[in-house]
Amino acid sequence: MSPLLTSPVAIAGGGIGGLTAALGFLAAGVPCTVLERRPSLPSGGFGIQLPPNATRILFSMGLGPALDKASVRPVAREIRRWSDGALLGRLPLGEEAEARYGAPYLTLRRADLLRILLGALPPGVVRFGSPVDLALRPPGLLVGADGLHSAVRAALSADEPRFIGYTAYRALLPGDGLAPVVTVWLGPGRHVVTYPVPGARNVVLVTAGPLEGVFDDWHDPVRSLARAAAPAMQHALFTRDRLPAWHRGRLVILGDAAHPMPPFLAQGAAQAVEDAAALVAAGPDLAAYEAARRPRAERVAAASAVGAHDYHLPDGPAQRRRDERIAASGLPDQDWLFA
Ligand SMILES: Cc1cc2nc3c(=O)[nH]c(=O)nc-3n(C[C@H](O)[C@H](O)[C@H](O)COP(=O)(O)OP(=O)(O)OC[C@H]3O[C@@H](n4cnc5c(N)ncnc54)[C@H](O)[C@@H]3O)c2cc1C
Repeated sequence: MSPLLTSPVAIAGGGIGGLTAALGFLAAGVPCTVLERRPSLPSGGFGIQLPPNATRILFSMGLGPALDKASVRPVAREIRRWSDGALLGRLPLGEEAEARYGAPYLTLRRADLLRILLGALPPGVVRFGSPVDLALRPPGLLVGADGLHSAVRAALSADEPRFIGYTAYRALLPGDGLAPVVTVWLGPGRHVVTYPVPGARNVVLVTAGPLEGVFDDWHDPVRSLARAAAPAMQHALFTRDRLPAWHRGRLVILGDAAHPMPPFLAQGAAQAVEDAAALVAAGPDLAAYEAARRPRAERVAAASAVGAHDYHLPDGPAQRRRDERIAASGLPDQDWLFA
């Protein structure tokens, strides 16, 4: 084992990235502790889509049975038009995608995902109610998996999160026996995503301002969803500058701390999972970790950012061209993301 990793690793942040990294380090025989600011796991929360590039890693850690039990396997993602619900494109996400990528596409509650990750760790690894204190640096590696407002990142860069002009309104509505489909409605300046999780329907409404009345001129299923979802939990969307480096000395960052991205490709947590696996594989070689992950994470972040423009095009020729691209797109176009 490397000299650096003979010391225990401290991970700031017990979110999806931090807990996945802890599982990886422990499996590799590296002792580690997670310092989580919250007093306990969040019990509420909303849904999350886990694409095959994330489930492949999580299943390889032995979490497949627990994840299967807690999730829905959507058969497709359908993209629809805002005004009449016309189907613009349908991407298969079920057996065909699983066969192609060797791992399933899942939707589940975030709280269940965190519970499964925590449950796979030995007791005591996660210290809740413990905000990281950079003045008391542990002797070994300190991994900043502490999200968008990362304290560990602040030791690497003075940049601040920047609002991208859109807010996501999230709600978990009662719903059982819903069709296992991820549905996205695109319209001028706004879009809506909904998918089932066990026993409920997750709804995300994205718009540039307040929610009230914004979807009143959309076709009826969306109108009703927006009314049922209000008052939803408001979540302003941020990005951050590209960092000169993701590590310095014994500090390294992953997930949203390193590369926050708008949620338009549903990939932020998946990229945090990929980071965690790559960091564990790189061991003490933090430059190798960054070289392995940075080009891909930045490509995914850039593609996600395009959604802020593309998803929200006004009716007209540019929107028609976009819809033609959506109609022509199939699973092979997702290979770069899901494989
Ligand atoms: C509306 C919306 C929908 C999304 N949908 C998806 C999706 O479907 N699929 C997907 O892959 N991604 C999705 N994302 C993105 C995803 O939520 C994030 O990218 C992901 O949660 C990042 O994980 P993380 O572990 O890096 O950070 P976080 O999940 O933010 O976890 C950071 C953890 O660090 C803790 N922390 C913070 N500061 C400190 C400190 N000083 N000391 C100790 N602990 C600290 C926090 O309490 C938290 O537990 C979505 C995002 C949004 C906003």
